[in-house]
Amino acid sequence: MLLKDFLESRSSKLQELKKLYQFIQKNGPVTKAELMEFTKIKKTKLNRMIDELLKNNLLKEYGIGDTSIGRPPTYYDVVLDKDYIIGIHISRMAVEVVLCNVRYKIIEEEIFVITSIHTLDFIINKIKSIIRRLMKDHKLEIENLIGFGFATVGPIDREGGMIIVREPFLAPNWKNTPVVEMLQNEFPVKIMLELATETAVVAEYDAYDSVHKNIVYLIAGAWGLGCGVICNGAVLPGQNYNYEHMIINFDGKLCSCGKRGCLIAYSSFNGIIQELKNNKLIEELSNAQVQQASVNDLIEYFKQGDEKTKEIILNTADYLGLGLSNLINIFQAELIILSGPLIYNFDGYFNRVVESALQNLKDRENNLIFTTGKRKDRAVVVGACITLFESYFPKTF
Ligand SMILES: [Zn+2]
Repeated sequence: MLLKDFLESRSSKLQELKKLYQFIQKNGPVTKAELMEFTKIKKTKLNRMIDELLKNNLLKEYGIGDTSIGRPPTYYDVVLDKDYIIGIHISRMAVEVVLCNVRYKIIEEEIFVITSIHTLDFIINKIKSIIRRLMKDHKLEIENLIGFGFATVGPIDREGGMIIVREPFLAPNWKNTPVVEMLQNEFPVKIMLELATETAVVAEYDAYDSVHKNIVYLIAGAWGLGCGVICNGAVLPGQNYNYEHMIINFDGKLCSCGKRGCLIAYSSFNGIIQELKNNKLIEELSNAQVQQASVNDLIEYFKQGDEKTKEIILNTADYLGLGLSNLINIFQAELIILSGPLIYNFDGYFNRVVESALQNLKDRENNLIFTTGKRKDRAVVVGACITLFESYFPKTF
């Protein structure tokens, strides 16, 4: 049986088998004894179910032996080299396309940078050609693709499979585009369009074995700012939350939204550049030059600045930490993951954000884990694959 047909099946007879398959997918390789202990399925029934999965090539066994005479026990695992998920992530800077196995390991990836002349049509066509190449190189038929997980910055129209263009990506001629339909014309598979912040937090929830039930995943230190939240083990739909305009300073700096004291007015590239200009540290750069600079250009520029420049940039981390402490308090987060260009690439930025957040969380500081996560800058795209795959099973998060 094709894994895809098995996953898509709604037959009640198969639901228990799917549950067992999912347990092995998450925890394999496992022995029969372990399966009995954790799933509480009786031995004869378990034997029958395992045989059924083996017969359909959904499971494989290895290390066949007998524990009673000291040989290694038999291990069971899902088949990892037959069926795959495609992950796609469009950010402001680049597009990632990955081929993932069903344990969410990236088998191959291709990344291309987006410039100001890339249209969304061009990008979708390029994504299609990458998928075609991946299928050819790995000898995959469409039946071997379980689906595509597609993540991007919001807003999105999930049902319509459409990226809503509110503020421009780098290319000025982006328009609302039904990306899912455009891909489905060529690849008739399940495609889920998701928010990057949500898939990122899903990826880390999974990477930490679902141990932490309240997680805040902050993407910051860039042009914009976003946040993904797992609350009581479930993803909080992020579409309607506008973390960028959380007010952190009463009567503070004027924000592009017209209000004063928004987080984004301080801790974003625009906020930093404005502050550097106020201090006459980059007056020679025009607005247009700044807007056209790539993220890497700006990070390099910032890194090469003098002590005063560094101080100004690190000061913006204090505001970010303050905003973050509000989120930690609201969501009672225990695991806090920070990502983004300044967090990854600017010395001291991560630590300053954490220090600033902790000043506001004095009573809880011992129970908090601050980290850049396990999946780092692949969290979004892997999380899109996870969301797609898990959609075939009863909700676990
Ligand atoms: Zn604002």
